[in-house]
Amino acid sequence: FVPWEDPEQKPFIEFRNVTKKFGDFIAVNNLSLKIYKREFFALLGGSGCGKTTLMRMLAGFETPTSGEIFLDGQDLSGIPPFRRPSNMMFQSYALFPHMSVEKNIAFGLEQDNLSKTEIDDRVAEMLRLTKLEQFAKRKPHQLSGGQRQRVALARSLAKRPKVLLLDEPLGALDRKLREETQFELMALQEDLKMTFLIVTHDQEEAMTVADRIAVMDRGELVQVATPSEIYEAPNSKFVADFIGDVNLIEAKVLEKGDNGTRMQAAVGDFAIDTEQTTSASVGDTVWYAIRPEKMRISQGQPEDSVTNQIGGIVWDIAYLGDVSIFHAKVGEDDHDILRATKANISRMVENPITWDENVILTFDRDAGVILT
Ligand code: ATP
Repeated sequence: FVPWEDPEQKPFIEFRNVTKKFGDFIAVNNLSLKIYKREFFALLGGSGCGKTTLMRMLAGFETPTSGEIFLDGQDLSGIPPFRRPSNMMFQSYALFPHMSVEKNIAFGLEQDNLSKTEIDDRVAEMLRLTKLEQFAKRKPHQLSGGQRQRVALARSLAKRPKVLLLDEPLGALDRKLREETQFELMALQEDLKMTFLIVTHDQEEAMTVADRIAVMDRGELVQVATPSEIYEAPNSKFVADFIGDVNLIEAKVLEKGDNGTRMQAAVGDFAIDTEQTTSASVGDTVWYAIRPEKMRISQGQPEDSVTNQIGGIVWDIAYLGDVSIFHAKVGEDDHDILRATKANISRMVENPITWDENVILTFDRDAGVILT
């Protein structure tokens, strides 16, 4: 299931050169994006990057300043929210407190003048799908946070929208429940074969649930790709830094060859060889990035002659159970060096930290874009 790689596939949702201004402030800047049928798609970015505004324009709660939005081939301009074939589930859930769970779910269907039998069938189906059968007669205040979340979900899905819009849907849940609910959401999306669009600032959540992720920054898309592409091949320093942990080290390009590049790190006195060729010139300063889990730390003396090895002084080890994170000082810089399952390391002495040639990404020092 990779519709985005098939040029013949028609997008299900399409933003075409969409801009949204609030006064002089540009919240979304000339953004184009295609989302395909049955995708679980995540809009991910820090606070204020414009992800909610983008979703609200699709739902019809905001009007684009310029550009067009299409859903299943239909131009949405001028169509009010309640006539759009989308439904949005809000972070606050917005349940009616005086109505039972089943009444909450039925409410939107009654507004649509469906027959009583049809409403009853759909409510029963939704209660079953969201595992709420035994709570049908309860009021929202008699439910846990996770159950309330499921009622909101059932209510949004009951109308069988073409796309479900989820605005930070799990924000109010504690970590364990949040993780469980992420898997429930994925199962539900599989079962219903629907298109889900989620807005989140939580990178782990986006990586868990989504088929593809759009990383946003200051109203623009920085990268649109699958979770593994985003992690393994970030297209910029921003994405490498935003998704997961990364060690960013400044270095100068010493030599360029057909099979790789040699660099000199700006801190410490060590050389770095990568299998990557680079579009940077000899003498340029770049950032190189290594994921912590790709680095190894061992006991002993670092050796000057070895490349891809730095001497780091471990000053802190955070024990997290399944992994430990080592904080090491390299020259003047502190680095979160490594996640390892176990390592027998003395603190406060210099230890060699090593990595393989093929695990380094190089970014332009000023623009932050990847150098290939
Ligand atoms: P968060 O995760 O904090 O909700 P976000 O990425 O969803 O962030 P948006 O809600 O899309 O961000 O807002 C993007 C920018 O547009 C913010 O700087 C916000 O202050 C601004 N903005 C949003 N709505 C309005 C509005 N109605 N009037 C003025 N500015 C607005």
